[in-house]
Amino acid sequence: MTQRDYLLLTPGPLTTSRTVKEAMLTDSCTWDEDYNIAVVQAIRSQLVALASAAADYSAVLLQGSGSYGVEAVLGSAIGSSDKLLIVNNGAYGARMAEMAALLGIAHLVYDCGEVAMPDIAHLENLLRQHGDITHVAMVHSETTTGMLNPLEAVCHLVKRYGKTLVIDAMSSFGGVPLDVGALGIDFLISSANKCIQGVPGFAFIIARREALQRCAGRSRSLSLDLYAQWRCMEDNAGKWRFTSPTHTVLAFAQALRELEQEGGIAARHRRYCANQRQLVAGMRALGFTTLLDDALQSPIITAFYSPQVAQWRFSEFYQRLKAQGFVIYPGKVSHSDCFRIGNIGEVYPQDISALLVAVERAMYWKQ
Ligand SMILES: *Cc1c(COP(=O)(O)O)cnc(C)c1O
Repeated sequence: MTQRDYLLLTPGPLTTSRTVKEAMLTDSCTWDEDYNIAVVQAIRSQLVALASAAADYSAVLLQGSGSYGVEAVLGSAIGSSDKLLIVNNGAYGARMAEMAALLGIAHLVYDCGEVAMPDIAHLENLLRQHGDITHVAMVHSETTTGMLNPLEAVCHLVKRYGKTLVIDAMSSFGGVPLDVGALGIDFLISSANKCIQGVPGFAFIIARREALQRCAGRSRSLSLDLYAQWRCMEDNAGKWRFTSPTHTVLAFAQALRELEQEGGIAARHRRYCANQRQLVAGMRALGFTTLLDDALQSPIITAFYSPQVAQWRFSEFYQRLKAQGFVIYPGKVSHSDCFRIGNIGEVYPQDISALLVAVERAMYWKQ
């Protein structure tokens, strides 16, 4: 008997299709062209095509979870005399600040608070006051709260000041349309197990070639050297520097085919939006309230306030949902008692309908 199947309503790992899982039933040779050229190089060019119409971008795949990709970019892109401004409104912005501190990168943090978007005028003041800032980093979809940060406004401002732009689009790339070239993003980071709907095992970076070139010799780490990884893939037709997560890569190639079959990012975005709207409408009808105003909300994950009743225990609610086949996420916001429900992955309107029935049955404090 294998572990029972749950629908994961979590923002990665998430519920993948059976065909994505089945793609892992082949063992690959990492030095053979059947793997390097047919799979890895194809993935790299598909990622660039998904990200932008511009030709001057390249994709680098890197072993590890999404954070490894973020750390590789911060540790390889920012030179010893450079300075990084981090826009922070959640746990993933805070993680970038923690990385910068550990890596010894000169940095400044703009703390917006967890439930507010960055203020563009304030950001501009910071760029004016601190002329030594060379790089700006921000999370696009802050998975902590479900906030969708104002990517376009921030990108336009940062580019107007001529700074290098690093975007953690971990939980949005593939699920929210964006043109990396038109936005002027220099480094965009995402990972296999989020909106592309693959399985965990690697991160990927879509970057301007010229920005990658400038990473040469800057890395503070051997394994997380973005430039060395890029050069190896460029010079050896898709070869990874160290053991590559071959099965995960095959699953990812299948996930990209399924994204195309669905109708691309625009179609996937419509499905996620429909899931999220249905979820919020249903939860509100059951008496729950959302942490964020609808205007701030991404179509990826939603934070709900815990009910204000003495009997409330997240673990009890969680177990009652799990017993009905649904796994949700605890909250991560520091100042509010919340729980979160994701709606990305192989999740469709009928799943949200079934979840809402399960939530009503799990409301033990009403029974
Ligand atoms: C998932 C995620 C990450 C990476 O987390 P890992 O646990 O390392 O995969 C980074 N930023 C955001 C916004 C995320 O949603």
